[in-house]
Amino acid sequence: MDTPVGFPTRNRAASPAPADGPLVDTFGRAHTDLRISVTDRCNFRCSYCMPAEDMTWLPREGILSYEEIERVARVLRGLGVTAVRLTGGEPLVRADLPVLVAKLAALGFDDLSLTTNGVGLPHLAGALAAAGLRRVNVSCDSLDRDRFASITRRDALPAVLEGMDAAEATGLSPVKVNVVLMRGVNDDEVVDFAAFARQTSRPVRFIEYMPLDAAHAWERPDVVPGREIVDRIGAVFPLVPVGTRDDDPAPADRFRFADGRGEIGVIASVTDAFCGTCNRLRLTADGALRNCLFATREWSARELLRAGGSDADLEALCRQVVWAKAAGHGIDDPGFTPPARSMSQIGG
Ligand code: SAM
Repeated sequence: MDTPVGFPTRNRAASPAPADGPLVDTFGRAHTDLRISVTDRCNFRCSYCMPAEDMTWLPREGILSYEEIERVARVLRGLGVTAVRLTGGEPLVRADLPVLVAKLAALGFDDLSLTTNGVGLPHLAGALAAAGLRRVNVSCDSLDRDRFASITRRDALPAVLEGMDAAEATGLSPVKVNVVLMRGVNDDEVVDFAAFARQTSRPVRFIEYMPLDAAHAWERPDVVPGREIVDRIGAVFPLVPVGTRDDDPAPADRFRFADGRGEIGVIASVTDAFCGTCNRLRLTADGALRNCLFATREWSARELLRAGGSDADLEALCRQVVWAKAAGHGIDDPGFTPPARSMSQIGG
């Protein structure tokens, strides 16, 4: 991967990470956003993410306890992390999730959110909101019930839509809707999803399909480029860009409808990577710290915690992980190899 424009070309990753100051990498990117996966298990089997069956799950004893997650989050809060998103697997299948949310809310993050398939929200939205969750992203890849069932291998579209309503009813808003667009699978619904965003006032985020599927079947022609998504929607519902990447490290390029009726976003991770402004760090369900979705190396916070490591040790590990971050994800590099773990095992 080429070094992003404006970045130093000298590789300083071999030098020790700074012992104090903000959580930065060698390119000066400050890390303020933490994604925490609470489980690798899921009640869906989305074809672009997991196999239909024979998934090997992490052993229960290998999963971080809520107290362990809280400890890592507390140390990272002290290092300047301001936003936490819970994910999985499907985070709502882990028992007593509101207990973890309350622990994290007490740490005082500016933003505490959750990415979910939505099915558990009618039961859990109230308890999650009461525990301090601010908002949710709900994944939904088709508005057609049969197609939804074929993509997710679960006949659950009505339940997912009910989950979105439940989240809004408890104040977990805005509900953002995540759509992974795949060529020839659901890209004919791109304008339908834009209409859905307009009707519901739910921002829809179109995500480019990434090489993180368990089957390693991803091929570049399957990706619907973000630019094409914007053009196809804009031809029907004129769009106006909202802000620029330079003033927002969030991965979505946002557009509002010119008539003021809502907005969409495009996460062009493949065709227009936003690595130059990446501020994200990940903690997997089994306690591995990762500096990139596509990283092939990870560092075990769990081992450190269970070997009696101190908070100072944990801080040093977090600094080392961020310091070792590459300039970019490298999908376009000739020797690109996807990580051994798929999206549901890392935490999307
Ligand atoms: N189960 C939750 C959900 O459905 O949102 C959280 C975990 S899921 C792995 C997080 C997000 O990753 C979802 O929006 C999902 O669609 C997305 N995702 C999974 N595999 C992907 C892939 N290969 N490319 C792009 N996005 C992917």
